[in-house]
Amino acid sequence: MTVTRFAPSPNGPLHLGHAYAAIIAHDLAKERGGRFLLRVEDIDGPRSRPEFAEAFREDLAWLGLEWEEVPAQSTRLASYEEAAQRLLAEGYLYPCTCTRAEIEAMRPRLGKEGHIYPGTCKGRLLDPEKPAALRLDIDRALNDVGELSWHDELAGEQRADPREFGDVVLVRKDAPASYHLAATLDDAADGITLVTRGMDLFPATHIHRLLQALLGLPVPTWHHHKLLFDESGRKLAKRRGSKGLSDLRAEGIDGKALATDLRAGRFPAGISLDPS
Ligand code: GLU
Ligand code: ZN
Repeated sequence: MTVTRFAPSPNGPLHLGHAYAAIIAHDLAKERGGRFLLRVEDIDGPRSRPEFAEAFREDLAWLGLEWEEVPAQSTRLASYEEAAQRLLAEGYLYPCTCTRAEIEAMRPRLGKEGHIYPGTCKGRLLDPEKPAALRLDIDRALNDVGELSWHDELAGEQRADPREFGDVVLVRKDAPASYHLAATLDDAADGITLVTRGMDLFPATHIHRLLQALLGLPVPTWHHHKLLFDESGRKLAKRRGSKGLSDLRAEGIDGKALATDLRAGRFPAGISLDPS
């Protein structure tokens, strides 16, 4: 059975891009006689606020969607911790004590590869006295799991290529887990068979596929859809003034009619699908 999910982070209101994503996840599940789940990804410390999550439920209902809600990430910390400990014990993680400023300072010397952490702390042992993030030793991981592939319903078969991320942080200094670790574990725990989300997260799937291999998790299919762009040709973002769904709701706009329009590719003025 197809199981999809919409997994918003309650650190701000949903906008039309989220509505579009939720509708795609909802409709793909319903068309295939499956289930559509809502999972609140609330492990972003003080930036996560319950009132945003409450508004998400009102927004989805306003759009006419039906969902089952699964436990929020903040209730699943033990499973993240357990997986991280396992990866650490198996030698796939190493502690990184670099500060944000130190990493920034390395960048100019790193040239084109500057977005990748250069592995400065690799091989270091955990010092309980020092706050550290845990990074994935990508070379070691790839060496052990070998070639991996994954399937996107729209883009087709992909060879997993997680190196472009470098040694990503899986356990943050200031948060119980990274998005990568938490989302991968939760998708498995929730029985997600089809991960739908925007193209902006396409590259992250290479990492998720690797984590599935390391942790022995089931491998879903993916469906990365196009993003909605604003007049400036950039993806919708609240900080650039994209209206929140709750604003539209308050203006008296009919959510179900809006959902029908989004499904048909009729977007409000100034908004369009990524043309690429
Ligand atoms: N919480 C993530 C976000 O809001 C969801 C990512 C996902 O769908 O995997 O961007
Ligand atoms: Zn470091």
